[in-house]
Amino acid sequence: MTRKATCCCGLCSIEVEGEPMINAICHCGNCKKRTGSAFGWSLYFPDAQVGKRTGDLKAYSIDGAKRQERWFCAACGTTLFWKVARIPNQTGIAGGCFGETPLAAPVATVFNDGRCRWLRLPEEWRTSL
Ligand SMILES: [Zn+2]
Ligand SMILES: [Zn+2]
Repeated sequence: MTRKATCCCGLCSIEVEGEPMINAICHCGNCKKRTGSAFGWSLYFPDAQVGKRTGDLKAYSIDGAKRQERWFCAACGTTLFWKVARIPNQTGIAGGCFGETPLAAPVATVFNDGRCRWLRLPEEWRTSL
């Protein structure tokens, strides 16, 4: 199955084949700020499953121990996908951007030290990758 993640304005997109290797929500400060929300929903696909990209995508890089590069729509600012040094050969894609081709529910919750105290999650989810 081919799925497509798109930005808010629809100009940028990225296509993926098959199912993700990682399907998790993350409570780290970086994901909170990236999304402006209580947590990030991250899907990691092997690079070989990642296909066509469209639109004017700009890159933002973070150096150091949390080295990563992420790409966002130049028009609307939505972060669509990223590469992080500690998860090589995979591409992270923002779960909420798969609006019309939804994925399965997350199976893990990570960086739980940063979890909002009011947030309740399914007991069966793993608490690490
Ligand atoms: Zn956009
Ligand atoms: Zn995170």
